[in-house]
Amino acid sequence: MHNAKKTTICLKCGVHKDLHFKRCKPSWWGNKPKFYTFHSEGESQRYVNLNALSLYGAIHSLRLQVAFILTEDRQRKYIADFVYFDTRIRSFLCPNGRWVIEDFKGGYQTETFQVKWAEMQKKYPQFIYKLSDKPSGLIND
Ligand SMILES: [Zn+2]
Repeated sequence: MHNAKKTTICLKCGVHKDLHFKRCKPSWWGNKPKFYTFHSEGESQRYVNLNALSLYGAIHSLRLQVAFILTEDRQRKYIADFVYFDTRIRSFLCPNGRWVIEDFKGGYQTETFQVKWAEMQKKYPQFIYKLSDKPSGLIND
């Protein structure tokens, strides 16, 4: 394991649990906070950016930690950090956008991960595969 530190933030407003008051910020007034622990600070910040992209309508249907079966006996599976529909990835055949499977890797990639990542692309070729290692901005994302 690399030295990633688990980070708990509110999925609604992105504020760290330790700094969060009882309710979310005014625009989410009345909403209860929804805390979630990410594997690392970087992954939590990537979520904050993806959530912003959702609010802008660039992506939708964002899900966290989605399991995919790799073998028919269900013994092997891969868990994606993020799955979402990206309306910016358009083509003649997919005029509305594409589904994306994204894995956040804050540095070191294990051999197990690399094998599963390759298996996923072979088994589920309908997805766009994206590796991220930083939160990224709204413009160059
Ligand atoms: Zn909040």
